[in-house]
Amino acid sequence: MIKVAVNGFGTIGKRVADAVSAQTDMEIVGVSKTRPSHEAMIAQKRGYPLYIADISKKDQFENAGMKVAGSVEEMIQAADIIVDATPGGVGAGNRAMYEKFGKMAIWQGGEDHSVAGFSFNSSCNFADARGRQFARVVSCNTTGLCRIIKLADEAYGVKKVRATMIRRGADPGDAKRGPVDAIVLNPVTIPSHHGPDVQTVLPDIDIVTMAMIVPTTFMHMHVVQMDLANAGDKDKILRLIADNPRIGLVKGYTGIKSTAELKEYASDLGRPRSDLWESCVFEDSLSIVDGKELYLFQAIHQEADVVVENVDCIRAMTGSAATAGESVAMTNRALGFETI
Ligand code: NAD
Repeated sequence: MIKVAVNGFGTIGKRVADAVSAQTDMEIVGVSKTRPSHEAMIAQKRGYPLYIADISKKDQFENAGMKVAGSVEEMIQAADIIVDATPGGVGAGNRAMYEKFGKMAIWQGGEDHSVAGFSFNSSCNFADARGRQFARVVSCNTTGLCRIIKLADEAYGVKKVRATMIRRGADPGDAKRGPVDAIVLNPVTIPSHHGPDVQTVLPDIDIVTMAMIVPTTFMHMHVVQMDLANAGDKDKILRLIADNPRIGLVKGYTGIKSTAELKEYASDLGRPRSDLWESCVFEDSLSIVDGKELYLFQAIHQEADVVVENVDCIRAMTGSAATAGESVAMTNRALGFETI
């Protein structure tokens, strides 16, 4: 069993912990919190040993009825590999600790590529993670872009990508962030950082991205246009998407035209936390103009799509014999997950 610790049990960390603990080849040896909270209580209920960043706060946890297993340093020592899901910018400061104990670590997209020197996406570069001590799973938006670009590139070659990201203002549990009533150009300059981030995984892709933030919590929406090297066939691309284990097709007959309906659908499907681990391409949006211009809308559940990528990254780094396809299938199967 691969022993996994999750440093930072928030939006991403709690999902990664549940996804890891569902796998047959890995187990959670600990999760960390900074203060007693509803998430710390959930960690206890799940049976995850709870470690704390500041051991001087042990009494606060214990007074709240929570058993503390030890310090974060002790958690690191108990693990083979650490998934660092602390807030963006905090994780880089933990690198020295992982180095000190000679442990493997995976960071999230809130950190720069340089934190690990290797950025990961299961569909694109699974095998390149083998034998590495450090990796970074790219952000939710970059993950969604990488998946669909890789699919189109393998089928027809991609000459260039132009994409606009309409991003959620905050996660549902994040009461402090906005905007409440504005469309915020984020950044106002073009290109946004997403294109260069895709190139950390797919260095040969010509891509320009633009981004804005809107008052919603559910999901991001991507407007994607790709110039193909060879004439594309719409029905074939739809079939490839339908067969892809990490991209779902929002069928026209469902009548779903919004992120709100999509999240409701995920909830009705009985998905835990109504999570959509797959990118969600709208079938009726997919169009080919003049033979080689591919257009589509895809919705990305920001809290969920990177979770399954972390599980595959753990498997690749720790020397599993599984191929990318086998790992993706194992991860999905353990979560009882079939794409929409
Ligand atoms: P979050 O704020 O929801 O969770 C972070 C957790 O880390 C919190 O529980 C916090 O208490 C804890 N923490 C803070 N400092 C710590 C420390 N020093 N030691 C241990 N724990 C500490 O953040 P998140 O949204 O889960 O983001 C985590 C990472 O994932 C970031 O890099 C972010 O950019 C990336 N990411 C987030 C999303 C998203 O939509 N939320 C999507 C993809 C990637």
